[in-house]
Amino acid sequence: DATEETFRFQAEVAQLLDLMTHSLYSNKEIFLRELISNASDAIDRLRFERFSRPELAEEADSDEKLRIRVAFDPEARTITVSDNGIGMSREEVIGNIGTIAKSGTGEFLKKLSGDQRGDAALIGQFGVGFYSAFVVAERVVLTTRRAGAPPSEGVRWSSDGKGEYTLETVHGDTRGTAIVLHLREGEDDLLNGYRLRSVIQKYSDHISLPIVMASEASADGEAADAEGTTQKTAEETAEETAEETTVNRGSALWTRPKSELTEADYHGFYKHVSHDFSDPLAYLHAKVEGRYEYTLLLFVPSRAPYDLWAQQPRQGVKLHVQRVFILEDSGQVLPHYLRFVRGVIDSGDLPLNVSREMMQGSRAVDHIRGSAVKKVLKLLKDMAENDAEKYAAFWKQFGAVLKEGVAEDYGNREEIAGLLRFTSTYSPTQEPDVSLDDYAGRMKDGQDKIYYLLAPTLSAASTSPHLEAFRKKGIEVLLLGEVVDNWVVTGLLQEFKGTRLQSVAQGVPDFGDLEDAAEKEESERAAADFAELLGRLKETLNGKAWDVRVTSRLTTSPACIVANEAETDFSLAQRLRGSGL
Ligand code: ADP
Ligand code: MG
Repeated sequence: DATEETFRFQAEVAQLLDLMTHSLYSNKEIFLRELISNASDAIDRLRFERFSRPELAEEADSDEKLRIRVAFDPEARTITVSDNGIGMSREEVIGNIGTIAKSGTGEFLKKLSGDQRGDAALIGQFGVGFYSAFVVAERVVLTTRRAGAPPSEGVRWSSDGKGEYTLETVHGDTRGTAIVLHLREGEDDLLNGYRLRSVIQKYSDHISLPIVMASEASADGEAADAEGTTQKTAEETAEETAEETTVNRGSALWTRPKSELTEADYHGFYKHVSHDFSDPLAYLHAKVEGRYEYTLLLFVPSRAPYDLWAQQPRQGVKLHVQRVFILEDSGQVLPHYLRFVRGVIDSGDLPLNVSREMMQGSRAVDHIRGSAVKKVLKLLKDMAENDAEKYAAFWKQFGAVLKEGVAEDYGNREEIAGLLRFTSTYSPTQEPDVSLDDYAGRMKDGQDKIYYLLAPTLSAASTSPHLEAFRKKGIEVLLLGEVVDNWVVTGLLQEFKGTRLQSVAQGVPDFGDLEDAAEKEESERAAADFAELLGRLKETLNGKAWDVRVTSRLTTSPACIVANEAETDFSLAQRLRGSGL
């Protein structure tokens, strides 16, 4: 064909393909899940675009059935996954297949160490689904036609996954995409209707569209008839060839009653919405009725997505209106500090053509946001109370993100503060295992403040001279070594449940009632004894130090620098300067 053109894969894709074919092999059947997931996304997008582009709606036949089809051909040794979804234009094929648009992927791949290279879970989180086809196929041919485009604008993409692909313009009879996998040597076990059905049921049962396959009898060329006795006439056989059955349940999982769903159903669905290979840590499924009606199915992943700290991390909640996928949340529904949450929100109270702009002032969205946030925080609270080990795992992955919430979400400040975990001078290791409630519960008689120390790192914090007196008196001090801790301290407005937070590196050391009369007397006498020395030091440090004082806060170190009470904490100030704020 004169229109055939050859292209090279982006370097990252070639690298990824190489990794995938080696690391995913033990899990090779997931290619089907990935291709079905893409087909499902493509149909969702078609339905969505039809709201904004009526000409696409006109294209629909009155009896059109949106579906995903899986077929196989034992002679040609192919498996075909096709959909009548949105399809792709030539430019879209170039942009989506053969390119990794996601920022940071390249760097991430480079960083994968030897051991990690084989880690399917790490690789899986990119949503690199399409390329998983090459785990079982030596050649993949994708034929597609964009919704709204004429039959003359069909596109065929073909590749053996070794660095190059070809594109040609073809006649596209139907809208949508068909992907043909030419199986590698030795993959013939996949050319089996029973096997394919069970893989679909295992991984894709929750897909809300019908996944159809030709009926067993016609597809396998063998009598699936249980009795095996009925003789079929030629017409009957022809009819059956055209007959298709739906393999999956085909109803949106979140609309089904909780009592019907198993943990495995939820986990499978999570993997579909999140592109994660691991099970989630926790999930919540709630149908809310009342003034606003909506369903929430939200998951907390067990590991941080690779872009958690990227400039524009992907938020992973898919907003649906009456089961139709509308858009991926990018902060309209769940706040930034819950960006690790994945799942689905489905509401009947929003118009089907809702846009991000419209969501901003929407009462229904405000209401849903409020309730979704409360429910996620409650889920975390329950986890913290009932399964400390799991919560520690959560905290390790997402603690630093949750901390942002103290400053970001004023209304839920107290709830979030209750979920925080810190390392303190009481912690046996550097693991953050102390909650503010733990701290408050073991405050000394007469102690009326929560003491903390901000430092560039935890190790720096634990060896700070500011802690000496507190250690001697057995007073617990929280050690804050993460950048985000600045915002925790300021975000808490200096108090937790009525108890003030106090930096141990700031102001006149005030142990309040924790200091007995003898100690007070001693420090006053010391101040008098050293009056002359203090005078000389003040003179020498004129313009550099506000004041020089005798202190009772040190036990072994001779001197330390503290910030003025009215000023920003010393370490905080240093950090703010460093961060250019
Ligand atoms: P992801 O699904 O996470 O985006 P994939 O590698 O699975 O990653 O797919 C890459 C992109 O290719 C999709 O985002 C989509 O734009 C396009 N694509 C893949 N399969 C189809 C399909 N069946 N119909 C339309 N577009 C598709
Ligand atoms: Mg995909």
